[in-house]
Amino acid sequence: MHPEKYLFINPPVEDFSSSDHFALPYGMLAFMKKMIAAGVKFYFYDFLHRDFAYNNERYTWKKDHTGRYPERIIPKPALLQNTRRYFKRYGNSFASFQSYLHEHNIVLTAFTCIFINTDFTYHIPGVVAFIKKLTAFFNIKEEDIIIGGTPAWLMPGYFKQKLPCCRLFQYSRWHEAELKQRSVPWQTYPLGLYKRLDYIPFKITSGCPYQCSYCAAPFLSKLQKGKRFAALQDSKEIKKINRALHYFKDRFHTNIAIPLDDALLYNIQALKQLFYKKGFVLYSPNGLHIRKITEHNADILYNCGFKELRFGIETLNDKPDLQAAKLQNVAIMRKVELLHRAGFASGQIHFYLLYGLWGQTPDDVYRTIAFLRQTGCKINLSGYAPVPHTLMYDKFNRKYDSIFSEFPALTNNNTVHLWNELFTEKIINELKLSLSR
Ligand code: SF4
Repeated sequence: MHPEKYLFINPPVEDFSSSDHFALPYGMLAFMKKMIAAGVKFYFYDFLHRDFAYNNERYTWKKDHTGRYPERIIPKPALLQNTRRYFKRYGNSFASFQSYLHEHNIVLTAFTCIFINTDFTYHIPGVVAFIKKLTAFFNIKEEDIIIGGTPAWLMPGYFKQKLPCCRLFQYSRWHEAELKQRSVPWQTYPLGLYKRLDYIPFKITSGCPYQCSYCAAPFLSKLQKGKRFAALQDSKEIKKINRALHYFKDRFHTNIAIPLDDALLYNIQALKQLFYKKGFVLYSPNGLHIRKITEHNADILYNCGFKELRFGIETLNDKPDLQAAKLQNVAIMRKVELLHRAGFASGQIHFYLLYGLWGQTPDDVYRTIAFLRQTGCKINLSGYAPVPHTLMYDKFNRKYDSIFSEFPALTNNNTVHLWNELFTEKIINELKLSLSR
């Protein structure tokens, strides 16, 4: 019998669309790093990684190092019937998982507990279905399942209702005796658990100094680090991250580094120390703050190797309800000029906008698009995804009789037309079309 007491699983996801945009189970990985440091042995299976695909599952990759998971169409949940898109299950098959268990001679009932990761609130119903299948198929008790990840903190009530015996936990607050005293305060991840990776993730800030009404970054940081915003300044820790970056650069033969920060530019000195003219290429999956673009910072971004810049503009509407920390029109033109001067072409600069926000009308979105088009930069438009523990989520949830707490699938940014009467499918399509005119 294998001696390991723990199994970690990153489950498959159920969604209209899902792709590997530098997606790894980061919270779970940070926690596993603590376990490794404490000498605790465990198994790990990632349904969303090609290393764990046993049955010729099909992964494809794009030039920008993002990729597609294996997928298959599944029935839509009742509430999502009124959408025309297919609903799919993404990731390795259950058969692949069984092959992995077989190859490693693993008996699931022998574990003290099985950790299941969650990534986004709208994937919660899929995770619940997966856990039910897992417990029924292998005859595992619900009590032996521990659910971790941000959604477990954000919507514990839903899990308690659907899986009353499973336990919920926060990776950052695990107090098992052998892990005490072992802190891994800043994130480099135990990437050695994978054989192949095309990029190296890292994190040098936690949370954000602002508090936009639709964003949970400050709330989540407060849970983890006790502060809405914290920035890594300790030079020893920066050196550790530097060593890890170079180690994994050689090991995976890649120079692509991925910051996972919500407010990266609020630790520009650490960024400079790690990457300035060091031969890395950087892509940021999270939006950057255009407010922080100065001549000096634009030069740092260029020479750190950013190939594209994604700025979270969200909206240029200044209604107080939106409580956005973003810049207004005139300043944006100036910032774009500074970025051009540093060497970035317009095509490398992306502005991310949202539709469906509280107090926002389609006209507001058209106006924002019309203004940003003058910059010549790229514009991306997505639906608003309600996030629990934010002011805007509470307002919408109250307005629609707790619809999101009962049906987390509706917190998906593809479902705005199902609950926001101002943004019908027709209007959303017209808004998207206006981007290409
Ligand atoms: S500025 Fe960005 S990261 Fe900060 S709270 Fe607002 S949306 Fe979140």
